[in-house]
Amino acid sequence: MTFQQSAVTQVAQSDSGVSVKTQQENLTFDHCVIACGAWSKELLKDLN
Ligand SMILES: Cc1cc2nc3c(=O)[nH]c(=O)nc-3n(C[C@H](O)[C@H](O)[C@H](O)COP(=O)(O)OP(=O)(O)OC[C@H]3O[C@@H](n4cnc5c(N)ncnc54)[C@H](O)[C@@H]3O)c2cc1C
Repeated sequence: MTFQQSAVTQVAQSDSGVSVKTQQENLTFDHCVIACGAWSKELLKDLN
């Protein structure tokens, strides 16, 4: 398992899974858990 720390700027659904955009790169995952406390609502606004 790999741990990586980055500031996430956007989370969106894509055909291949969940697209996670950070200040450095775009990543795609099968699943994504958002645990950003009070900041979660802002990141979730683009998800259905
Ligand atoms: C003043 C105060 C006192 C509290 N006292 C208590 C108490 O005594 N007992 C108690 O049980 N609870 C207390 N709470 C509540 C407790 O702090 C929260 O319930 C708990 O911290 C929530 O944990 P969390 O992991 O969900 O979110 P958090 O602890 O808020 O962690 C969220 C993390 O996400 C990171 N993050 C945010 N946005 C992004 C992003 N875009 N990209 C990457 N990372 C991001 C943040 O940097 C942070 O590290 C208190 C809260 C406050 C504000």
